[in-house]
Amino acid sequence: MKTINDFNFKGKKVLIRVDFNVPLDADFNVTDSNRIEAAKPTIEKVTKDGGIAILVSHLGRPNGEKNAKYSLKHIVSKTEEILGSKITFVEDCVGEPVKKAVANAKAGDVILLENLRFYNEEEKGDEGFAKELGSVADFYINDAFGTAHRAHASTTIVAKFFPDNKCFGFLLAKEIESLDKVLHSKDKPVTAVLGGSKVSSKITIIENILDKIDHMIIGGGMAFTFIKAMGGKIGNSICEDDKLDLALDILAKAKEKNVTVHLPIDVVAADAFAADANTKIVNVKEIPDGWQGLDAGPKTLEGLKSVVLESKIILWNGPLGVFEMDKFANGTIELGNFIAEATKKGTFSLVGGGDSVAAVKQFGLAEKMSYVSTGGGAMLEMLEGKVLPGVKAIQD
Ligand code: AMP
Repeated sequence: MKTINDFNFKGKKVLIRVDFNVPLDADFNVTDSNRIEAAKPTIEKVTKDGGIAILVSHLGRPNGEKNAKYSLKHIVSKTEEILGSKITFVEDCVGEPVKKAVANAKAGDVILLENLRFYNEEEKGDEGFAKELGSVADFYINDAFGTAHRAHASTTIVAKFFPDNKCFGFLLAKEIESLDKVLHSKDKPVTAVLGGSKVSSKITIIENILDKIDHMIIGGGMAFTFIKAMGGKIGNSICEDDKLDLALDILAKAKEKNVTVHLPIDVVAADAFAADANTKIVNVKEIPDGWQGLDAGPKTLEGLKSVVLESKIILWNGPLGVFEMDKFANGTIELGNFIAEATKKGTFSLVGGGDSVAAVKQFGLAEKMSYVSTGGGAMLEMLEGKVLPGVKAIQD
């Protein structure tokens, strides 16, 4: 399959679906510009080749109404600062104003169109709307990983109007490549660290990855469902009582597939789910009534350190404890440090999906990982083995 580097965009009008759904403060200042920075290489490839970059994105949930609160005009100056050049903002994403702006643009120009979700047709995946969007361009690039799991007009449907002239942007390609490295690796051992609160939200991921991994480290709140299923006393720890059989079933399947499962040995137990709770280290199978496990204990961390350091490939999804409270953040931080150490020695590490991404950013560990995914829901669906519609539309 052709990559973005196989194309030269000289003289081309290129529609680029980016994910500029960035957080804004009360004065409409961009408070986190990571997503704009992440799209820069793709935009620059088009402009440096001598093409015209026509950027489309959504921002927030305007639900099909033109609402100034969700206008992409708020991000124009930040985007100009990041790209280091002026951009043209068009107050619509389809119709005459767009056609005019594109007709007036010169090679190397960047045009940003108004929020796609001002039209209901976007999220409905309306074909007429997609056709209209694509009508101003002669090439389509999808670089919006965060919405690649949605079959919206600009992420999926529009691709059919560019049968031979479409590709992934650098960001989307990197996301796919990173996951591929983890799930189809020849390097072994492959370790998945799964944490977070619930088994139920991770079950499809577990089922999909069991064939592809050698070690599965189970931590966080979801570990207690396994411990209870195995006969342990978990006190007031979080548990899904209707998933006890499922937990045993997962353990049996893992054994069948030669996957070594690592469950916690000890935990930091607290007498309340509170930042100022009293704490003590206890055996994970002997948590007293009235106490709950909120973080990994020292023996647990020591055990998983050696597994992590011996791994060639690591996938990390979900925190090991309630990292939002300082008292229960140590396990997640330590795990991050172990993965950083392994990465430094050549292990490939991918952090993806939801809270573990927030955790590595919060603890300054993001730069020490091989790759930190930019799309929560999209990464989770890929881990579940689903083919994302936005990805398929480019590959078709
Ligand atoms: P998830 O969205 O399923 O990945 O879960 C992430 C959440 O799990 C975070 O907000 C953590 O605070 C929470 N969590 C991690 N460990 C525990 C635990 N032992 N008890 C309760 N919640 C936990």
